[in-house]
Amino acid sequence: MFMSETRHNWTKEEILEIYNKPFMELLYEAATVHRINHDPNVVQVSTLLSIKTGGCSEDCGYCPQAARYHTDIEGNDLMSVQQVKAQALRAKSTGSSRVCMGAAWRNVKDGEEFDQVLEMVRTINKLDMEVCCTLGMVTENQAKRLAEAGLYAYNHNLDSSEEYYKEVISTRGYQDRLDTIDNVRKTNVTVCSGGIIGMGENIEDRAGMLVALSTLNPQPESTPINALVAVEGTPLEDQKPVSIWDMVRMVATTRIVMPETQVRLSAGRTQMTREGQAMCFFAGANSIFAGDKLLTTPNPDVNEDMEMFALLGMKPQKPFTKKVQPQTVEAQDSQLQSLGEKPKWTRPEHTIERNEAAKEKAKTLK
Ligand code: SF4
Repeated sequence: MFMSETRHNWTKEEILEIYNKPFMELLYEAATVHRINHDPNVVQVSTLLSIKTGGCSEDCGYCPQAARYHTDIEGNDLMSVQQVKAQALRAKSTGSSRVCMGAAWRNVKDGEEFDQVLEMVRTINKLDMEVCCTLGMVTENQAKRLAEAGLYAYNHNLDSSEEYYKEVISTRGYQDRLDTIDNVRKTNVTVCSGGIIGMGENIEDRAGMLVALSTLNPQPESTPINALVAVEGTPLEDQKPVSIWDMVRMVATTRIVMPETQVRLSAGRTQMTREGQAMCFFAGANSIFAGDKLLTTPNPDVNEDMEMFALLGMKPQKPFTKKVQPQTVEAQDSQLQSLGEKPKWTRPEHTIERNEAAKEKAKTLK
C-alpha cells in the first residue's frame, strides 16, 4: 500500500530512497499517490506576467534579470494597471485560471509602486481569476495588504537545498526565504514555493530542497519544479540541460512527499518533448505555466499547450477549485496602513567566484 497522507517529517535519506527507486516503480508509486489526491486529467494553467523586468540588485546565478550580469533582456518599468488587465483578459480567454505577476525586486517597498501592484491584484481578482504575485521578500504587513486586496497565492521559491543555495546566491540567506514564507502564512494567501534543478547541484541537494519544502507545515499549496534555462551572460550560462529522466524523477518524488500540492512544470518546458511532458503529468505534475515567455525565458506557445491537452485528453482546471475566491477590499476601505517598512534580511558573508567573474565580464561588455 502506498503512503498518501501528508507527512511533515520526511528525512533526506527517505527522500533519496524514493528518488533513486527503479524508474518504473517510482512512476507507478507517484501516479498512484497522484490519483488518490487529484483528478489526473485536470491541469491548472497559470500565466506568468513580468510586470517589472530587469535591474534587480540580487545576484541569483541563474537569473538574467540581475543588473550585475550582461544579458540581452529588455528591462521595463512597472506596467500600468490597464496593461496588466488587458494581459489578464487575454490569459483568461486562452484557458488560464491564474495570473502570476512577477517583479524583479529584491523586496517589496511600501509606496506608490506597491500601491499600484495592490490595484493590479484587485483588478485581476475582480476578473474572477486567481492572482499570484512574486515580488521578492515581504513583511507581515505587506503580506496582509496583499491578502486584503484579494491575492490568492504568493510565490517565493527556495530554489535549492540550504547547502547549495550558498553556491548560487550570495546576497541573501536561506532563512530570509523562509521568513517571507512565514509572513505569507500569517494571512489566508496560499504559498507557492519550489525550486530549480540543473544548477550544478547533486541529488542530495534536490532531496534537501524537498525536505525543506515538505517539512513546512502546512506544505506549499503549489510547487514549481523548474529546469534551469541557462542564459548567456549569467554565471550558470554553461550548465548542461537537465535530462528528462531527472525531471521526471524530481516531479515524481515531489508528488510522493507532497501529495496534495499542485506540482507545476515551469521553466525548461521548451526543452521537453510532448512525450516527456506526458511522463511528467503521469508522475504527478498537474500545473503548467502558459504563455510564450516565462518572465524573460522562452515557453511553449499557448496553442501548442492546448493541442497537447487535447492529445492527452486533459482539461484546464477552473479557478478557485481548491480554495474559495478571496474578497477584495477597496483601497479606500482598507484597515491597513503602509508602514514604510522593508523586510529584514541577512547579508551572508560568502562570495561566489563565478558570480563575481560574470560581474567582471559584464563590465568589459558594456
Ligand atoms: S531571481 Fe528574482 S531576486 Fe534573484 S536576481 Fe532574479 S529578479 Fe532578482
